[in-house]
Amino acid sequence: MHVVVIGGGVMGVTTAWYLREAGFEVTLLDAAPEPAAGASHANGGMLHASHAEPWNTPGVGLDLLRYLGREDSPLLMRPRALPGLAGWGLRFLWHSRHSAFERHALVNARLAAFSLRETRRLSRELADEGLAFDFRESGILKIFRDPDSLARNRSAAEAMQTEGVHFEAWDTEQVIDREPALAGVRDELCGGLYFPDDAVGDARRFTAGLLEIARRHGLRYRPATRVRRLRTFQGRIDAIETYEGPVAADACVVASGYEAPALLRPLGLHLPVAPVKGYSLTLPMDAELRLDLPLIDDASKVVMTPLGDRLRLAGTAEFAGRDARMEDRRAANVLAQCRRTLPGLPAQFDHETMAPWAGLRPMSDRGTPILGPTAVPGLHLNTGAGHLGWTFACGAAAQVRDGLAGMAPEDSLAAFRL
Ligand SMILES: Cc1cc2nc3c(=O)[nH]c(=O)nc-3n(C[C@H](O)[C@H](O)[C@H](O)COP(=O)(O)OP(=O)(O)OC[C@H]3O[C@@H](n4cnc5c(N)ncnc54)[C@H](O)[C@@H]3O)c2cc1C
Repeated sequence: MHVVVIGGGVMGVTTAWYLREAGFEVTLLDAAPEPAAGASHANGGMLHASHAEPWNTPGVGLDLLRYLGREDSPLLMRPRALPGLAGWGLRFLWHSRHSAFERHALVNARLAAFSLRETRRLSRELADEGLAFDFRESGILKIFRDPDSLARNRSAAEAMQTEGVHFEAWDTEQVIDREPALAGVRDELCGGLYFPDDAVGDARRFTAGLLEIARRHGLRYRPATRVRRLRTFQGRIDAIETYEGPVAADACVVASGYEAPALLRPLGLHLPVAPVKGYSLTLPMDAELRLDLPLIDDASKVVMTPLGDRLRLAGTAEFAGRDARMEDRRAANVLAQCRRTLPGLPAQFDHETMAPWAGLRPMSDRGTPILGPTAVPGLHLNTGAGHLGWTFACGAAAQVRDGLAGMAPEDSLAAFRL
């Protein structure tokens, strides 16, 4: 059986690997000339089952209003994005009801915990084949300045324990003891939650490395090949039309990130995925600026991730339509937010040493990824992972493989289907 996977980001490449490993003939088509050119390029690097809640938390509507037009906010709505977001935006708010949010948080946590186990397995089993991606099983520390927020996060973490997400509550002294780089903000902190099973790694290195290994195992890879249309015959997928000509297919997996809805529309399928922009900076980590534990600062919603000898700073959620341009002031805002946590960071934003980057997360309206078979025979999905795509990559790929091989347990994909 020949499966065509569309999209060379972390979701597409990982799916292609899992399918190839299971014995499928696989062709990977990507519009970009190299892997991980989209949202997977320089993300926060966090593999965090602990952070599996959707972004549409109860009260997100008020947050959006509060931050409207504020360039220094973690959440920014650009007026030009509003027309394109109308339907998606209303459903995004609808899914922020307590009951929906809690249900989606739990299914995400289960998938994320499974995915981390799969990432560990791949890292171990493929190390001899050269898979290296600055993977570190360091755990992740979330720090708090507001006792109410700490209490809320602690009870959310307690609820997730049933899904295999473990945590330790640390007081401020323990936080500083374990991460001395936070000594400068000791007086502002009220404690932290440490998630020992979380990890970090470089999604771009993972994607490019896994692709190379998959090619050695027989994966056909066609970069710079944009898909124009999915072709059906008697109602089922029979070919993928690209601008370079058609590719025959028995089935396909659409993993084309925020661009996926356009491919499904002509088949009468509505895929509720929208782009949400984010920024990152990558700095060399030197003796003055050493961070041991990956950090999430609850107050500013930024992440600080040691990746080998580099430090990745990432954050912001911007509804800006399909505009992936890097804007200096938004990147500088990520730096300023991170300096509130790590005062030793340089004060000046600098293109040369900080490798600023912007990417568009493919975000589903309900806050879970959209995975598995659809109403069109032969058409499968792996998109909509939003702020959690790197965390979900291996678990989602395993689920999609099971859906294609007909080996998915009855209810395992139900929560994620279109
Ligand atoms: C600033 C930032 C920080 C983040 N931090 C984290 C984090 O710490 N942890 C975490 O788990 N997640 C994080 N994420 C989210 C994660 O990076 C994304 O969810 C993930 O990269 C999405 O991967 P993808 O493969 O679905 O999409 P992409 O990486 O965008 O890949 C989509 C691919 O599809 C291709 N494509 C599109 N249309 C077509 C077409 N018609 N034909 C052929 N190819 C096509 C594109 O060329 C692209 O290569 C972050 C994201 C951002 C932006």
